[in-house]
Amino acid sequence: RAKAGGRNGACFFDPSMQDAADRRAAFEAAMRDGLAQGQFRLFCQPQFDRVGGLVGAEVLIRWQRGREEVVGPDHFIGFAEESGLILPLGAYVLEESCRALARWQGEPALQHIKLGVNVSVHQMRDPAFPALVDGILDDTGAPPERLCLELTESVFADDPHEITRRMHELRARGVCFSLDDFGTGYSSLAYLKYFPLTELKIDRSFVRDVGTDPESAPIVEAIIALARTLGLKIVAEGVEHEAQRHFLIHGGCSSMQGFLLGRPQPIGDFENRYRAAGIGHA
Ligand code: C2E
Ligand code: MG
Ligand code: MG
Ligand code: MG
Repeated sequence: RAKAGGRNGACFFDPSMQDAADRRAAFEAAMRDGLAQGQFRLFCQPQFDRVGGLVGAEVLIRWQRGREEVVGPDHFIGFAEESGLILPLGAYVLEESCRALARWQGEPALQHIKLGVNVSVHQMRDPAFPALVDGILDDTGAPPERLCLELTESVFADDPHEITRRMHELRARGVCFSLDDFGTGYSSLAYLKYFPLTELKIDRSFVRDVGTDPESAPIVEAIIALARTLGLKIVAEGVEHEAQRHFLIHGGCSSMQGFLLGRPQPIGDFENRYRAAGIGHA
């Protein structure tokens, strides 16, 4: 049993710590195996413009651990970041995403859409990251301007010069950058000028209350106005209700994503569905 406090108050051995370490090691091994066995699958959630045209999709990773067991990213991304597995996992997501973009060329309903790929700050910290993306674009033949890397404000906690240099390298190649979950972090508005972004995603916590909370509405309107002034595209996340969509359309929001319009779905299903549907979210 755990003995908290020895003679001098030190904790010499705590079996519960060993248990936790074992569990982490087992989880890491399972993730490694899962990656090798292709258990990580790309899901896509559609994004639509004001009139219901498909303009893009966000790639959201899922871990298919068993036939029935699907694990969402909130349960493993943090761990992947701590263990370093985020680098191979992130590279896999980028490669599969770029394969899809290449495959969609020549498809009327799909060739013009952009694909948002979530990128961890750990990937952006890697000096080899721009070369990695470059290599994937070359190998797959994906059109770089259709690839939109989604960053969260946590990148700003890092060396901003280093991150900006990396972003510029990728921008020069044609790749776009989106600032995810905008408004939830420690955003300094100066960052918006400093980093070469192309898009802002309004966090769903603001979108959620837009029809009911008198404070959320002006915040969303201000974000939209700010984005417009800075020449950034804007995507509202988490649109679940018609009233929210209505508000956003009238507020001048250019595109939207959420359960009302389309759920995350396996990338193959996404392709089949929108290839046929062309436009609209009905
Ligand atoms: P995110 O990038 O902000 O992704 C949006 C999340 O909101 C997704 O959760 C999506 O399923 C969910 N969502 C979309 N529409 C609605 C809605 O109308 N209502 C509600 N309540 N939720 C909605 P998911 O798929 O669980 O992903 C969670 C987070 O995990 C993502 O947040 C992203 O930060 C991270 N993530 C997902 N895939 C990857 C990946 O490939 N790499 C990295 N580094 N992170 C990823
Ligand atoms: Mg995202
Ligand atoms: Mg988000
Ligand atoms: Mg998020």
